[in-house]
Amino acid sequence: MPKYDFDLFVIGAGSGGVRAGRMAAQLGKRVAVAEESKPGGTCVVRGCVPKKYLVYGAEYGASIKAAKNYGWSTGTVSFDWATLRDAIQNETSRLSAIYANILDKNGATLYSERAELVDKHTVRLTSSGKTVTAQTILIAVGGRPYMPEIKGVEHAIMSDDAFLLDKLPEKAVIIGGGYIASEFAGIFAGLGVKTTQVYRGDKLLRGFDEEVRDFVTGQQELLGIDVKLGATPTEIKKSSGGYIVSFDDGSKVGTECIFMATGRKPYTATLGLENAGVKVDGSGAIIVDEFSRSTAKNIYAVGDVTNRVNLTPVAIREAMAFVDTVYNNNPRGYDHSNIASAVFTRPPAGVVGLTEDQARSKYGDKISVYTTNFRPMKNIIAGKDQRCFMKLITVGKKEVVVGIHLVGDDTPEIIQALGITIKAGLTKAQFDATCAVHPTLAEEIVTLSKRN
Ligand code: NDP
Repeated sequence: MPKYDFDLFVIGAGSGGVRAGRMAAQLGKRVAVAEESKPGGTCVVRGCVPKKYLVYGAEYGASIKAAKNYGWSTGTVSFDWATLRDAIQNETSRLSAIYANILDKNGATLYSERAELVDKHTVRLTSSGKTVTAQTILIAVGGRPYMPEIKGVEHAIMSDDAFLLDKLPEKAVIIGGGYIASEFAGIFAGLGVKTTQVYRGDKLLRGFDEEVRDFVTGQQELLGIDVKLGATPTEIKKSSGGYIVSFDDGSKVGTECIFMATGRKPYTATLGLENAGVKVDGSGAIIVDEFSRSTAKNIYAVGDVTNRVNLTPVAIREAMAFVDTVYNNNPRGYDHSNIASAVFTRPPAGVVGLTEDQARSKYGDKISVYTTNFRPMKNIIAGKDQRCFMKLITVGKKEVVVGIHLVGDDTPEIIQALGITIKAGLTKAQFDATCAVHPTLAEEIVTLSKRN
């Protein structure tokens, strides 16, 4: 008779939890997974996937406008939010069912309820009240949107709500200058909402390369987004037909919808971590070592709940390293350096490696910077003003490429491939030796000249 009900209990059926649960079950381990919402987690249900569909939806609008210059007559054009919203919800439900099926097919038990820790080896399922034991526990509960505690904040929506709106507002104010705020400002503006994006800093996307930040801020304005910088909301008041948002610079903006995209926090509150000796940091993130092991030696954590690099593919890689460490006799951490990522603004950004400031503070004057800024050919006949920006940063006499920063159509696709070049430590000479593919946007990356 085994000592525990399961070898592995995973809390959270998002990207990280499902990958770990599925892989451990395939190795013959007895696995259970608990999920209080839909399997698939933030990425599938209320994040990356539905967001990307909204971006596609917004882009169709721009393409229809541009189509005329390409000879197409499109007649009367209208947009129906409910059609897009429901199509996306149907698709996320389909994907969620696939996630549940992956667990089932591999013999893992899925509990569709919340689980909390009772002690190091025991979880309580909160709806049924059942307790279950496991030798190893993996916490993969992700994060939740954070709302600042200002007066009237209960009137604001957050990203979870934005996918489910009954109707699109005519006017919206989006607070924040990060990924979600910048992406949703592009979506709303593209779907015809008069959009104001308000950020407390001096340019959007803190943490990105400064030139990318300048460029994206400008591109948002070209989309018709009213970008208001240097302002923090202090109060939201109900008014006839909407709300008035007050800011610390003394200004007020009237709107029908206020959307807080002010960051996300690890979802650790009331998880019972203290019952099992699992420690968290000041942000509520589970403290883990390089092997994703928490301060309790049989409890591990992966994904956004550890607040390392909060991206789906990273959670998946951390989960795979966890399975190797615990079940494949191959202890390994996941290398978090040089992770390529994308921001799905319109146009989107794709980046990998060091920003210019990071490269300069690490390597001083040993760095060289190459840039270009042009209007992609597609936009010329289309009559679109959107441009493309590219930057490549190298180090030393050999000019090893340490950073690539792109903004323009398809750059998320391009950066996926270019990420390999940085991982491989390729040099500018090797980029230059690579023949261009013409006519493409990507060809510019192998013909870049030094910035003056
Ligand atoms: P971010 O941390 O990217 O952005 C939060 C924004 O809110 C920042 O601009 C921040 O300002 C601002 N902010 C925070 N607190 C306040 C406040 N009290 N008042 C006013 N503004 C405030 O978080 P997001 O919610 O946009 O996204 C969360 C994470 O999810 C991302 O960091 C990313 O890891 C992931 N994500 C990834 C995506 C992708 O890969 N494409 C898409 C969406 C999310 P400041 O900069 O000054 O701190």
